[in-house]
Amino acid sequence: MIVMKFGGTSVQDAQAIDRVAAIVRERLHEQPVVVVSALAKITDQLLAMAAAAGAGDRKKALELSQAARERHYSCATDLLGNDLLGKQAFAQIAAELEADFNGLDELLRGVVAVGELTARTTDTISGFGEKVSSKIAAAAFCQRNIEAAHVDSRKCIVTDSNFGKAVPQFEETDARLKETVKPLLDRKRVPVMGGFIASTPQGIPTTLGRGGSDFSAAIIGAGLNAGRIEIWTDVDGMMTTDPNLCPDAKRIKNISFEEAAELAYFGAKVLHPATLLPAIQKNIPVLILNSRNPKNEGTRITATAPKSKNIFKAIAAKKRITVVDVVATRMLMAHGFLKSIFEVFANHRCPVDMVSTSEVSVSVTVDSNESIAAIAADLAKLADVKYEGRKAIVCLVGENIKTMPGIAAKVFSAIPDANIHMISQGASEINISFVIDEDAVPDVVSRLHRTFFSQVDPEVFA
Ligand code: ASP
Ligand code: MG
Repeated sequence: MIVMKFGGTSVQDAQAIDRVAAIVRERLHEQPVVVVSALAKITDQLLAMAAAAGAGDRKKALELSQAARERHYSCATDLLGNDLLGKQAFAQIAAELEADFNGLDELLRGVVAVGELTARTTDTISGFGEKVSSKIAAAAFCQRNIEAAHVDSRKCIVTDSNFGKAVPQFEETDARLKETVKPLLDRKRVPVMGGFIASTPQGIPTTLGRGGSDFSAAIIGAGLNAGRIEIWTDVDGMMTTDPNLCPDAKRIKNISFEEAAELAYFGAKVLHPATLLPAIQKNIPVLILNSRNPKNEGTRITATAPKSKNIFKAIAAKKRITVVDVVATRMLMAHGFLKSIFEVFANHRCPVDMVSTSEVSVSVTVDSNESIAAIAADLAKLADVKYEGRKAIVCLVGENIKTMPGIAAKVFSAIPDANIHMISQGASEINISFVIDEDAVPDVVSRLHRTFFSQVDPEVFA
């Protein structure tokens, strides 16, 4: 069997869901389990309703809910059509949607009445999008002669009660998947499930964190020993660099999980590879595919990547970085100094990304945010501090860095006059990163891309 997960833009309206049905039909012989996100933007809107209700704004909460209700009704009408059969199918799903949306309104009124929005209630509300999108998709499949069966993910995926970002309990989840989903597959049905949503062992609704449908797909694929997991989105896969910077950026056909994970920080908008871990650990390949261009082969993420003739897999850049330099002669031979520096960042709940040290100084990068001035003020109690924004991290990723000598020389001689503020070739041994001025990004990235990707290994790139 395989898992096919369709993200929000792939199920945003009737036309999109119709495309999804056609894609699923092509794979029927492989026994797909389909996982869908909420219709695009719905989760944001649900969270906005919840917030409005929590703030006592009953009118706004119910207005937003009404708009979502209408969008789902019209999506279902368009999907199921106006002929007799379509009307029958619609009547069935409409009754369910009506009960579901009435339940949502009830909940929102309840939140207004008690004047408090708890994390637990937030999860019940924010998961509503997947609850209904999966029902609509299942109905649409059935009407297109795909023998689909809706499965309530909240009955299969079991988590702790860490609302907002609940942690799966794999043993119980796997057992339930085998109990509920497997028999459907055996009967040649196509199970259709909502991503993102789960529940505690007691049945209290939870969610897996924003973007969590990819995680659902990996959990389900791992639980049922899928041969492959397909993540359907609206781009052709991962690219050698941002095509807006380099129009000749190539599609990466094969990438290792570790390489993909290194790129995630750099706004690989496609997905967060960490969520694929349950699948990767079981050696299940994950494919990124484009529901608007299904013939494209996309990007394949595997535990180990095939060798590439190119040194790197990708070049990524992240702007809006601030470099913080901390200089203290006191650091000479002292212990505990780095600890006190990092404690300051931790106290401000500010993640530190890149670090370079010398005997008397340490430089770190952070994503630019409002708390930098306050952080600097606290650091100033320990050492001399200066910080500068409008910087960017450029990162070259590839497993070959581990084995090929002379790579750093090749990188920096491709950009001999670049003004480099920090360099890091770190623990993972699969990336070289450095910091430059933000304005230099287009020039630096395109020169590097020309150097390392003007000829590409056809096995790995397209
Ligand atoms: N709908 C959820 C979100 O927007 C989960 C997902 O789409 O992956 O975060
Ligand atoms: Mg997503």
